[in-house]
Amino acid sequence: MSVTDLPAVNGCAAAGCSYNHEHECHAGAITISGTVDDPLCGTFLDIGPSGGLSKVVARVGACHRTDCVHNAELECTADAIRVGPGKDKADCLTYQMRV
Ligand code: SF4
Repeated sequence: MSVTDLPAVNGCAAAGCSYNHEHECHAGAITISGTVDDPLCGTFLDIGPSGGLSKVVARVGACHRTDCVHNAELECTADAIRVGPGKDKADCLTYQMRV
């Protein structure tokens, strides 16, 4: 997989994030971190000023959730993901726990 094949963040409903502009994530890439069954967006930042890249929709640069069916070698293999409120203000909503 090359960098341009990384899954897009297809919408983010996390309120108050500096990278969120009209329900799109404008960070260059995000990292999903968290713990088992709690796939937290590690890039969420609620510091007030808005930021990110104006014409870019974020991709998933890295994912620590090896317990997700879409994770292979700490990268996400889903076509795209969605982020929004879950257990935390911003979680990966595409997460599916391996059984
Ligand atoms: S779908 Fe799974 S592998 Fe992909 S970013 Fe979300 S938690 Fe990580």
